Amino acid sequence: MGWNFRMWSAAWLQMVCLSIAVCSGWVQGQDTKPNIIVIFCDDLGWGDLGCFGNPVIRTPNLDRMASEGQKWTQFYVAAPVCTPSRAALMTGRYPIRNGMTSAKRAVLFPDSAGGLPSDEITLAEMLKDAGYATGMVGKWHLGHLPQYLPTAQGFDSYFGIPYSNDMDKTGGPGYLAEVRKDPSYYPQIEHYQVPLMRNTQIIERPADQNTLTRRYTEEAVGFIEQNAGRPFFLYLAHSMPHIPLFASKQFRGKSLRGLYGDVVEELDTSVGVVLDTLRELKLDRKTLVVFSSDNGPWLSFETHGGSAGPLRAGKGTTFEGGMRVPTLFWWPGKIQPGTKKDLGSTLDLMATFTAIAGGELPENRKLDSYDLSGVLFGDQESPRQEMFYWTNAQLHAVRRGPWKLHLRLREAVNYGKEVELAKPELYHVEQDISEKYNLADKRPQSVENLLKLADEHLLDIDPHDDMLAIPIPK
Ligand code: MG
Repeated sequence: MGWNFRMWSAAWLQMVCLSIAVCSGWVQGQDTKPNIIVIFCDDLGWGDLGCFGNPVIRTPNLDRMASEGQKWTQFYVAAPVCTPSRAALMTGRYPIRNGMTSAKRAVLFPDSAGGLPSDEITLAEMLKDAGYATGMVGKWHLGHLPQYLPTAQGFDSYFGIPYSNDMDKTGGPGYLAEVRKDPSYYPQIEHYQVPLMRNTQIIERPADQNTLTRRYTEEAVGFIEQNAGRPFFLYLAHSMPHIPLFASKQFRGKSLRGLYGDVVEELDTSVGVVLDTLRELKLDRKTLVVFSSDNGPWLSFETHGGSAGPLRAGKGTTFEGGMRVPTLFWWPGKIQPGTKKDLGSTLDLMATFTAIAGGELPENRKLDSYDLSGVLFGDQESPRQEMFYWTNAQLHAVRRGPWKLHLRLREAVNYGKEVELAKPELYHVEQDISEKYNLADKRPQSVENLLKLADEHLLDIDPHDDMLAIPIPK
């Protein structure tokens, strides 16, 4: 029997239907959703990487990541210390809105009973709803009690230390005193009884911090391999280079920068292993990787702290060195490579990830998040034009365009006492990256504009109850 016209048209119709089904399945299906990885370091300074101008520390993997992707030189965290900075990253909201900032305490401690409120929507929850496998490896620091752990905040799995690696200190010498005696001082794990957890269980205490970076990396690689066939979100939050500094044996004594350099070079190797894994699994062209840090360098630890490069001050302050962090975006074939001087913030990852994952933005709440995908994938300007510098439940400074106004200050040394300014100070942070030249008297109109912007922002804030200073009942 030959093909007649009716059979031809039936076959043709079938083919069209099949194509539509395949294409719409492809469009709507999970294959089109890119994987997302956030690699977040602790206390890594703006000036600590080769691609950000460090002349001594060797970071070939991060330098390659920068040249293949985008390097953002004016990228901010929303607080100059761990807990509130991470709360902003997770929620796209200033910590004053989600309870993770406090007049009494800078960060959560092992005796804190609070954590990021359950009704906050985290990146992991948003992406899980969009069909992603979600995993976290590393330092959490948004509450260590079961109801606040990553597994209660949208992550399918967790491996890491629930707070900072210098907590649960039991005896041993004063860290800074030892560093001052001998900059090559190497700490002992026994002096920090920090727990290493898998999901909600403690599996090691004290955590062997010598091998922490290597083990976090192995866990991250395992998660990527396990989820290679479906869209995944991995949050890899390294405990280093927060003090006490620890490195695997093969990295110790290798960097001209001393132990701090050894630690950063091991982190660089870790990034190389993660990116190589993506290349080997042929996932590199369908994975967005973001690299950043939670706050500036802990300068009071001298050579065991990092460098903010030309930026003023470091961790704990609202100067640029405290809140501007070295940030890279990488997605071969998708991101336009280059250096971006646009304003961006970890706050923006919520709106950006929502857009590229086809997720839904959290509703019924104020977000402080801008979608940066037009800068990453096109040649648009960043929708972020301003930044508010909060610390300890107070607005300390505000920036719009190149102008930054300090309303109140902390002394340039980390956790120094707060200084009430007699008059606000104005800096042009592009021409004067080190915040040296106060132009307030010469530019009264700029001062006025920024004071107005600060007032409008404060009126827009409905502070959450302080979740950070709740003690564990005795
Ligand atoms: Mg930190």
